[in-house]
Amino acid sequence: MLNFDYYNPTRIVFGKDSIAHIDDLVPADARVLVLYGGGSAERNGTLAEVAAALGARTVQRFGGIEPNPSYETLMAAVEQVRRDKLDFLLAVGGGSVIDGTKFVAAAVNYPNEPWEILETRAKHLTQALPMGCVLTLPATGSEMNCFSVVTRKSLQAKLGFGSPLVFPRFSVLDPVKTFTLPPRQIANGAVDAFVHVMEQYMTYPVNAPVQDRYAESLLQTLVEVGPQALATPEDYDVRANLMWAATQALNGLIGAGVPQDWATHMIGHEITALYGLDHAQTLAVVLPSLLHLRREAKRAKLLQFAARVWDIHAGSEDERIDAAIARTRAFFESLGVDTRLSAYGIGADAVDRIVAQLEAHGMTALGEHRDIDLAASRRILEACF
Ligand code: NAP
Ligand code: FE
Repeated sequence: MLNFDYYNPTRIVFGKDSIAHIDDLVPADARVLVLYGGGSAERNGTLAEVAAALGARTVQRFGGIEPNPSYETLMAAVEQVRRDKLDFLLAVGGGSVIDGTKFVAAAVNYPNEPWEILETRAKHLTQALPMGCVLTLPATGSEMNCFSVVTRKSLQAKLGFGSPLVFPRFSVLDPVKTFTLPPRQIANGAVDAFVHVMEQYMTYPVNAPVQDRYAESLLQTLVEVGPQALATPEDYDVRANLMWAATQALNGLIGAGVPQDWATHMIGHEITALYGLDHAQTLAVVLPSLLHLRREAKRAKLLQFAARVWDIHAGSEDERIDAAIARTRAFFESLGVDTRLSAYGIGADAVDRIVAQLEAHGMTALGEHRDIDLAASRRILEACF
């Protein structure tokens, strides 16, 4: 196992009716900004529950944070916080609202142009406003990690930053709040969480069976509950297991002490920035072809994945690896998430554009060995059709 320093201060309050606990979690004298998305939280009553829990506190709202939250929108929230001297941020939504809120928390007192936080990966960030979350979409793990991904539309750039300063103080996870999710978002969430685990598991062995088996159990749980969540949308326990699995997929624990890849995410971000695909759609496209092309570097773990996650034991090594990749692709497709760029109406001319964006953003040495250069990314993308 590799050395690690694991820190996660986010308090999780989980279960039915847990939104009422916000009253104990937000300081009584806080001046709160509630941030949310395009209206789902309004329509399904989550915002009303949050307002009731906040009681007599000073509360303002900022709606309209879009999927793949934009810098342009978030800067309007920053202005509101500065203008009205608000001091606590409460994100109500999925990964986009939570990521956006983290950026706002970091940007409010940032001395320079806040886009610098993304460009420098928060290198000079020294403070952030406190924030909490009410999660409505199990997927990103953002509710229990310190990462944020923001898009600047004018630059067609989707960049991420991470800082311990933006760990949520708490996140409330009520599985009932996910009942209103459309099938596409449930499917996206299961795929995103699955790929988060893979980014931290599918590398090379470092004698960390505890991390391996933890990751494998999350993968198996997602394979089990993903389809169930689509088939029986109001099954509380299915949603509860999906939600907690997605949170644990990216709260740092399974990534502690092991190598990490993240190339699928970095390539996927460029595809979203250029072509507007959902985050999970890009992952479902890139991961199978990346696994196919990186099979030598990942051979031992691919074989372990085949045996332990997919119960594949027959055939030569390469046959077992091929079968495991095929099962992974079939899992994504079974949820309704297409795994080829062509299925999204994207042609082969996209490869040059995506590679140029990777170069522009310094994504020239990706993967657990930092050896996915632009030529390797190009081969991965060419295999995505
Ligand atoms: P999302 O973009 O937050 O939300 C997708 C859609 O789901 C929105 O249209 C939203 O509608 C709707 N929605 C959310 N909750 C709902 C509910 N309970 N009922 C009905 N509709 C609901 O999706 P996401 O997959 O959670 O987040 C994706 C973003 O997270 C991407 O930008 C991705 O890059 C990023 N990400 C971050 C991390 C991280 O570690 N921080 C990791 C992976 C990905 P409304 O807008 O109307 O609410
Ligand atoms: Fe993701």
